[in-house]
Amino acid sequence: MSYIPLHIVKELAEKEGFCNCGAAKCEKLDLTSFKQWLERGYHASMSYLERNFDKRENPGLLFEDTKTIFCFLMSYNDDDNSEYHEYKIASYALRRDYHHVMKQKLNNIIIQLQAKFPDLQARPFVDSAPVKEREWAIKCGLGWKGKNSLLVTKNFGNKVFIGEILCNCESDYATEAGSMCGNCNKCLTSCPNNAILPDGSINANLCISYQTIENKENIPDNIRLHNYIYGCDICLNACIWNNKAMKTEMQDSDVKNIAFHMLDKIENDEDFEEEFRKLRKMTPMDRIKYSKLVSNVNLAKRQNDM
Ligand code: SF4
Ligand code: SF4
Repeated sequence: MSYIPLHIVKELAEKEGFCNCGAAKCEKLDLTSFKQWLERGYHASMSYLERNFDKRENPGLLFEDTKTIFCFLMSYNDDDNSEYHEYKIASYALRRDYHHVMKQKLNNIIIQLQAKFPDLQARPFVDSAPVKEREWAIKCGLGWKGKNSLLVTKNFGNKVFIGEILCNCESDYATEAGSMCGNCNKCLTSCPNNAILPDGSINANLCISYQTIENKENIPDNIRLHNYIYGCDICLNACIWNNKAMKTEMQDSDVKNIAFHMLDKIENDEDFEEEFRKLRKMTPMDRIKYSKLVSNVNLAKRQNDM
């Protein structure tokens, strides 16, 4: 079995545009709190989270002979200029679909590593399999669990995509970084629907992000959208570490232009199906149909008129 020095992976990761990466030994995770969260129904209608518990607990079941999990972070903390629009789309969706972008980059890293380490067998994952990505990123020493359940990193804040490579080689394993939230509660107090629970987990039933994307039924009247029509950035933007974070270069301005054009049309009460079709193909917004987006917009407008 090969050993891959972490600095080699880091160099390749940097060339591919990742802002950080780390390695953790593959071992079984303690998912007691995740199990309790499911039992309490805080996952709302996302029943897929109940499946594959064994694989979430033990990634070795996803890829045979996994010894190491490398985690890679990609920052999306750029200036997206969305403050100029009344209606909002979560900033992660204002760019090319990270699933495709990151998967390609992880595959490039695997190919280059295999050229140096012919024994390497590896598989990339980006939010496409039951991998507990935040937990592994923490084990890789890349950050800590914020009080709004998201990964928080010291240098890049919380607007980071996480990808993983599971492989059969060993590497230099990290020590976990402790929480640097301290007495801060800004994310908790920022949430307009009190969706953040005292243990740092989210009650998806109350979360704008779940309601505007995953909930296929009508959004309950008690959920205030605060003009978000796809996802929500409120608790991310509130985070002190996010605000101290290094900004990345403007990403995917062509995609943002289409999104902002669509928001102009929403604000002028015009039809924007054509723009939405373009956006859906390029971004993670393909999780919803045009009719759901229109229904979100209508609810946001009604709430503004109240
Ligand atoms: S994403 Fe929005 S609604 Fe959900 S927990 Fe954060 S602030 Fe609350
Ligand atoms: S806002 Fe404060 S409490 Fe919440 S994740 Fe950021 S540092 Fe932690």
